[in-house]
Amino acid sequence: MALQSTMMNYALTPVHFLERAGRYFPKVEIVSLLPDRTLHRTTYGEFHRRARSLAAGLQAAGLRRGDRVATLMWNHYAHLEAYLGIPAAGGVIHPLNLRLHLDDLAYIANHAEDRFLIVDDALLPLAEQVRSRVKFDRVFVAPLSGASVPSGYEDYEAMLKAAPADFSYPDFDENEPLGMCYTSGTTGRPRGVVYSHRSTTIHTYNITLLGGMTITNRDVVCACVPMFHVNAWGMPYACTMIGAKQVFLGPHLDPVTVLDTFEREQVTCSAGVPTVWLGVLDLLDREPGRWKLQPELRLVIGGSAAPEAMIRGFDRHGINVIHAWGMTETSPTCTFAVLKRGMEKLPEDEQYAYRSKQGIPHPFVDLRVRGADGEVPPDGKTMGEIQVSGPYVTSRYYAMEPDPEKFTPDGWLRTGDVGVVDDEGFVKLTDRTKDLIKSGGEWISSVDLENEIMGHPAVAEAAVIAVPDPKWDERPLAVVVLKPGAQATATEINKFLEGKFAKWWLPDGYAFIDEIPRTSTGKFLKSALRERFAVSYGAESRRGGQR
Ligand code: AMP
Repeated sequence: MALQSTMMNYALTPVHFLERAGRYFPKVEIVSLLPDRTLHRTTYGEFHRRARSLAAGLQAAGLRRGDRVATLMWNHYAHLEAYLGIPAAGGVIHPLNLRLHLDDLAYIANHAEDRFLIVDDALLPLAEQVRSRVKFDRVFVAPLSGASVPSGYEDYEAMLKAAPADFSYPDFDENEPLGMCYTSGTTGRPRGVVYSHRSTTIHTYNITLLGGMTITNRDVVCACVPMFHVNAWGMPYACTMIGAKQVFLGPHLDPVTVLDTFEREQVTCSAGVPTVWLGVLDLLDREPGRWKLQPELRLVIGGSAAPEAMIRGFDRHGINVIHAWGMTETSPTCTFAVLKRGMEKLPEDEQYAYRSKQGIPHPFVDLRVRGADGEVPPDGKTMGEIQVSGPYVTSRYYAMEPDPEKFTPDGWLRTGDVGVVDDEGFVKLTDRTKDLIKSGGEWISSVDLENEIMGHPAVAEAAVIAVPDPKWDERPLAVVVLKPGAQATATEINKFLEGKFAKWWLPDGYAFIDEIPRTSTGKFLKSALRERFAVSYGAESRRGGQR
């Protein structure tokens, strides 16, 4: 008979993290700035008790295995309870992105067949609207403000109090679903991705232990990314697994609150999209020395490209930036850009060039860059589509027909991101497929242009889009937001770019606006810019760079 492994068949499940945190880290704090700005403090000991009560309460309320429980919640302790308590009951947590349009929210909740909803009392007006379009069986309100729960709703706290004490976990199959997220869908309908206990466990391991975040039980972690944006990139699970103190900011992601909190709670690790960090960096530059931050503070920046100027800017304040890339379909983090041993001896500019790439893939994530003729050479120049596969990469979308535009016949996810790969294996994103600029038959990278333009001292933000051109088919237009009080003209910015790119890459036009429209997760909404400037950019650009 063939030799069999003697190892136990032990299910990989984040529910184990809940037990571990309760047993080994009962005194470690979980701090939440609630929607009304009250500061709430609890511990993993209390969290363990309450998350188990939530699981028992949901079962008593009729939750069946695999039922979806939606959340409409900000970042705080009760959302963390839902992260672990819902899967512990055998349910599937489905955080709803409360910044979406009501039509999308209703579509998503109906498509996922969300059966229960847990909502912050501060979000009741929104819940009321969603409820008029989605038939939930039960709706529980977390009374964070201390006010009583209005009639027609059930009280989350009362459910926890009344929960049977004799709860025991179901027997999990590690491939069972644990959570769901929908893509933000800037084009077409949002699509659902279902994470399993196993995929979430492996993703948690990777982000906790890798050279990127390297979270230990001595860390204080503050996720500056909403828990409804791909599970706050996995940080709540990572901290619970490892026993790190967690700090939540509710809806309060303004730079002063972020920095005050980092100082007060001695935060050592955080993560978020560039939009959040832009404001924080600007404030640090304006008021250097105002905040006493931890020397080991590091920021994971992803969701859209972290401009090199931002990485350099935080370095000036002694704050290390780790650039990461991923997507809803990949749980999300897939790559980190961390210098390899020896790279710290490279000239400074080369080090920054590596650090502003998206990095190398995590263990278990296979990554390839495919051009028209198969895999592109690792020359850092030839562009192709980034494709990934791995145990926490989705192989299809929930309840949708197989889509050859999104998955290859040999089983890879087509990310829709275009990039190049160098001989160190570092990937650099140059575009989204749909944002590519094709000028005279050649590709121009909008991301490269944006990153350089954002290095101009007068520029706060820049998005580069393709606009139709009778001669070249498409040409780049730079949409620029200047820093408050700063001035720059199109000619000055173009001068700044000269020598950094081939001449024909330089934008033909500049539009200076007050604010770049964003998606619900804080990315540039380029489709809106294209709509706005497709015809009119000539006129807008002639206005010049004065605000
Ligand atoms: P989402 O599913 O909403 O997280 O969006 C995923 C998409 O965000 C990716 O396919 C990329 O286009 C973009 N993205 C995420 N991280 C980065 C990054 N570090 N640099 C550039 N684009 C990024």
